[in-house]
Amino acid sequence: APKAAPAASQHTFTGGIGKVLAVASGKGGVGKSTVTANLALTLRNMGYRVGILDADIYGPSQPKMFGVEGYLPDAERIDGEDCILPADAMGIKLMSIGFFIKPSDALIWRDAMATNALRQMIHQTKWGGLDFLLVDLPPGTGGVHLAVISELKVTGAVIVSTPQQVAVADVRRGVEMFRADKIEIPVVGIIENMAWFTPKELPENRYYIFGHGGARAFAEQNDVPFLGDIPIVQSVMDGSEEGRPAAGTDPAVESLYRSIAEKVVE
Ligand code: ADP
Repeated sequence: APKAAPAASQHTFTGGIGKVLAVASGKGGVGKSTVTANLALTLRNMGYRVGILDADIYGPSQPKMFGVEGYLPDAERIDGEDCILPADAMGIKLMSIGFFIKPSDALIWRDAMATNALRQMIHQTKWGGLDFLLVDLPPGTGGVHLAVISELKVTGAVIVSTPQQVAVADVRRGVEMFRADKIEIPVVGIIENMAWFTPKELPENRYYIFGHGGARAFAEQNDVPFLGDIPIVQSVMDGSEEGRPAAGTDPAVESLYRSIAEKVVE
């Protein structure tokens, strides 16, 4: 069994969190939430205690990824302080802004209120001791990022990009945000998602639909570790739709994520 990492962050109800990893992307739709869910499940299956804080106020998708959309967090009073209980998502502790807002509310909640709700989630969630807390950030850079970075002791950042997005300035801005003065969060690495497509009929072929090698080159140029690439796989999309991340069901996807997770754990 893996050893628990030393506690870096000690909030009232966390009971100690080893590493807090922020998962970020320059733009939406690149698979940031999908990568968060699959990486979390992989770490869980490796024996770590894992939590996910879904802070993507624009489109919280973790409840659906794990099939716990209907969950209503219970509140409890412990030692005179209010705390909220995360959902159990395949052995992962999950707290999502999606438990507090309806899709139709999203526009109104996005700014001040969402940040308030997020702050409550950050300070009141009863994690109960974790080796890894993965934070699914909104795409881009903004107020939520600052709230998470300043109020949760983020120990590292993972950047997700597609091949065609990696050359775009907002991926660079993401890296710069974490490296900014007074923030100085180490970038654990970059993951290239939707890196290629292999049709069933041609299992030897890789089609680099969105370009090839961009994230690796970006990683080298920016002194960021390259964590690996994930192709476009039907089971990954199906897994998100069905509430069972593919890293737990498809051996090919599992082994890709395992090699990424091993680099993250290092
Ligand atoms: P983001 O969080 O960056 O907005 P999502 O994780 O919601 O992006 O992914 C966007 C869509 O792409 C979802 O429908 C998801 O299932 C799909 N997707 C993400 N990564 C892959 C992949 N490697 N293969 C197939 N589909 C993927």
